[in-house]
Amino acid sequence: MAISEKITKTTTPTFWEGEIPVNYIYTFGLAGETFFRAVKDRGTFLATRCETCGVTFLPPKAYCDRCFAKLEKYFDVGTTGWVETFTVSFKNMDGSDKKRPRILAMVRIDGTDGGIIHYLQGIPFDEIALGMPVQAILKPKAERTGGIEDIVGFGPVRK
Ligand SMILES: [Zn+2]
Repeated sequence: MAISEKITKTTTPTFWEGEIPVNYIYTFGLAGETFFRAVKDRGTFLATRCETCGVTFLPPKAYCDRCFAKLEKYFDVGTTGWVETFTVSFKNMDGSDKKRPRILAMVRIDGTDGGIIHYLQGIPFDEIALGMPVQAILKPKAERTGGIEDIVGFGPVRK
């Protein structure tokens, strides 16, 4: 179908093959940079809190998305949390079978209203449960670059 043709059947998916050149530079923003700098340098997570709304943001936000208050105080919330929900992936992106299933979880970080979606590791498949405590697994400090890949996943809470 050429892009100039009139669409007459709105229930039939339509597409045009081609390429759209996109050049961009992604930045974390002020709050994101503060968060990843703490992960890299201190091995911990920082959050912001809106005292008016009583919401603790993790990842931190520079502004409350409910009342638009500027949030400037960051505080350490550690790297532990609990499994709020999870899913199991048996297939690779190309549809082939994975050698072993991977578990992707939404981990709610303790003391916050937010969380991080990441892989669970080092937990036997049949022991994974909603509400189970977990802790972030970070790369060794010397290998951290200040990005999301500094967080390897979540695993059992270390004592
Ligand atoms: Zn607020």
